[in-house]
Amino acid sequence: MSEKTILSGLSQNEIEKITDELKMSKFRARQIHNWIYLKSVSSIDEMTDLALSAREELKKVADITNIKIHTKQTSSDGTIKYLLEFEDGERVETVLMRFDNRANLTACVSSQVGCAVNCSFCATGKRGFIRNLTYKEIVEQVLAIQRDTGLKVTNVVFMGQGEPLLNLENVLKAMEILNNDFQIGQRRLTVSTSGIIPSIYELADLDMQSTLAISLHASNHATRLKLMKIEDKYDMTELHKALKHYIAKTNRRITIEYLLIKDLNDTLESAKELVHYLSDIKCNINLIPYNPTEKNDYEKPSRNSVMRFKSLLEQSGKKVTVRLERGSDIDAACGQLKGRVEGD
Ligand code: SF4
Repeated sequence: MSEKTILSGLSQNEIEKITDELKMSKFRARQIHNWIYLKSVSSIDEMTDLALSAREELKKVADITNIKIHTKQTSSDGTIKYLLEFEDGERVETVLMRFDNRANLTACVSSQVGCAVNCSFCATGKRGFIRNLTYKEIVEQVLAIQRDTGLKVTNVVFMGQGEPLLNLENVLKAMEILNNDFQIGQRRLTVSTSGIIPSIYELADLDMQSTLAISLHASNHATRLKLMKIEDKYDMTELHKALKHYIAKTNRRITIEYLLIKDLNDTLESAKELVHYLSDIKCNINLIPYNPTEKNDYEKPSRNSVMRFKSLLEQSGKKVTVRLERGSDIDAACGQLKGRVEGD
């Protein structure tokens, strides 16, 4: 392991401690901070407004990063999937999504290596839980994208591998850095959870402007239990109470994620049940047509059933979107991230 301090993930105050020790001014700390977060340099040599001698001193005690891009795949729609490797050899996937008609660049970051929740449709869950990511490893994913593309990420969604609310402390610290140091507005940060109820109550007390997304994926207990074992511990009835509490406390509209699977939860009856369940929940609904992976027998819904489901929900007055399938040719779509490359 490197003895040097890794600059990525440090606040300006933390960088100041290093520059103080090197007898540099506080202004140098600000310059270094900008090079890391706003200009996303890959090496200290690129910090060209620092004197050569200052760069040499800094290089003796610090490095920009210690993570590596193991693999990078670019989809025909512009989505880029990275397999990133940390110092201990563990790997996670991070995805950059671009939308042609918008300036938004959205990073989908992982919060854990593997995941303990083990949803039956999810490739990550099959690995089981390996470890939490540190807050630095979370923000490093955004920096890796910025360094590689030279572009500034504008939105971050915690929808990659892992259950963010089972690693809440690191996720909250990462969100603070994304907000303060990357200057990404809180409203451009989304945390997606399978429904870890105690953490939802905790988040409600934090008075944040970020968006909470709930992976609901079913309209009744039995179907949700089949898809998500977490339903056994935190069921839809208790989840409903937690969501009402969260909305009352924060006055924020939540997002409901609903994976549509052929003949399982895309029926007329499911739509009606869902309308009833969400009738007093201030939310937008995001429908995600299932992308089949090789390891289960769930099927993709037909386009007609997706449209019928959408229209039934819309009749209840909710805003409903169908998530564009992005990066499915490189397995970067929802539920397809695995944190490994074929042959590993
Ligand atoms: S869908 Fe999310 S919560 Fe469920 S197993 Fe996969 S990574 Fe974990």
